[in-house]
Amino acid sequence: MRIAVIGAGYVGLVAAACLSRSGHEVVCIEKDEGKLAELQDGRLPFYEAGLAEIFTAGVGKGSLHFSSEVAACLDAEVVMIAVGTPARPDGRIDLSQIYGAVSRIVEQARFPQLIVMKSTVPPGFGENLKARLLSRAGVPLTYLANPEFLREGSAVRDWYYPDRIVIGGDQELAVAKLARLYADIDAPVVTMDVGSAEMVKYAANAFLATKISFINEIANLCELVGADILPVARAVGMDRRIGGEFLQAGLGYGGSCFPKDTCGLDFVSTCNGYAFNLLKAVIEVNNRQRVLALRKLRGMLGTLHDKTVCVLGLAFKPGTDDIRESPALDIINLLLDEGVKIRVYDPLAMKNAQRLLPPEVYSASGTMAALEGCHALLVATAWPEFTGLDWTAVKELMRPPRLVLDGRNCLPAEEIIKNGLVYQGVGRPAKP
Ligand code: NAD
Repeated sequence: MRIAVIGAGYVGLVAAACLSRSGHEVVCIEKDEGKLAELQDGRLPFYEAGLAEIFTAGVGKGSLHFSSEVAACLDAEVVMIAVGTPARPDGRIDLSQIYGAVSRIVEQARFPQLIVMKSTVPPGFGENLKARLLSRAGVPLTYLANPEFLREGSAVRDWYYPDRIVIGGDQELAVAKLARLYADIDAPVVTMDVGSAEMVKYAANAFLATKISFINEIANLCELVGADILPVARAVGMDRRIGGEFLQAGLGYGGSCFPKDTCGLDFVSTCNGYAFNLLKAVIEVNNRQRVLALRKLRGMLGTLHDKTVCVLGLAFKPGTDDIRESPALDIINLLLDEGVKIRVYDPLAMKNAQRLLPPEVYSASGTMAALEGCHALLVATAWPEFTGLDWTAVKELMRPPRLVLDGRNCLPAEEIIKNGLVYQGVGRPAKP
């Protein structure tokens, strides 16, 4: 098929590259000139495992093209919308990128097309868009909701091995045509109406966020009663009705999806006169978890203003260079407000973080360089290279009290303590 993907972000670029590998003719439209220049130059604008090879192959065989012009998608049978839907400060979802892209298609469409929404949009949005905008096109444009569930860090793998493919639409032929696009992917296709498909995405993310906040609440309670969250979470997760994923206690969730999708669903609930109290608590617990890290550092270091803290890990999770809504950045800002000197390092996200971090934050060239002269270390992202540090060397580099705050419970606690450093995890006894 001839396919157009609008938006070359994490979702759009992965979709475009993988669809080109599946034998489709794909044009990916990106309005950001910098990103487009990189793509047209054969470079990826962000890191995603396994994407470079598929991207290079697609460009090489001429089945993956890039353009800034929405007009470039006029010949496509399927137009996928994968533009950003960020949250506004009040929690409402900013849908302007979608309106921007879709109105151009409506103005220019010259033969019937499938408009496939991969961006995450609030339940009810698709029907509204159909009535308000798509109906104005001079040719029939059929709308389908096709929410995306891939995760940054494993996006390519998730594209090929999803748990399910959700398609929302009321025209059987159109739904079947989109399902054919995924014919080489071995996953159940679940079809429903547009609004329900939109709700699946929000419900799934809200549920995963709930698991994270729930285990963080249990972790906080573990600290008070002297229990250890690691065996607790492991054993709880072994119950197949619960499952072990998303039961890692820590600094809470971040990234471009969970924070905005939980707030977005809360906003939709409020607009519909419903107080989604469980979701409100999930959001509050997540925000509080970042402040707890600051309180722990203050509690163990005493006054903070004359201290130097090393923050290892800036990406919102390992395997990505994405720093959107990263807990590390919030905690750094809280520490700066207290007069703490900050030294940071991340294996992939330094370039992105430097755009956001204030100039007084010292960006180190590596883990050991970041640790020099620090009173405390906060590990904010569970990158594998932080777990295998030489703790004897770390001790030499740090200044007393040599506190290690393991914000992701990913470090070897006993080894750290054995080497004469002070270890503190999340939901763990002081000396596990
Ligand atoms: P992103 O911000 O990384 O990328 C969006 C891209 O769209 C940007 O490069 C932007 O310049 C481009 N764009 C915006 N308007 C355009 C237009 N009119 N023409 C051409 N390009 C345009 O976003 P993302 O992380 O890829 O997410 C996209 C959507 O998918 C969001 O709704 C998000 O919630 C959802 N989603 C994201 C993930 C994820 O892990 N990132 C997973 C599942 C779903």
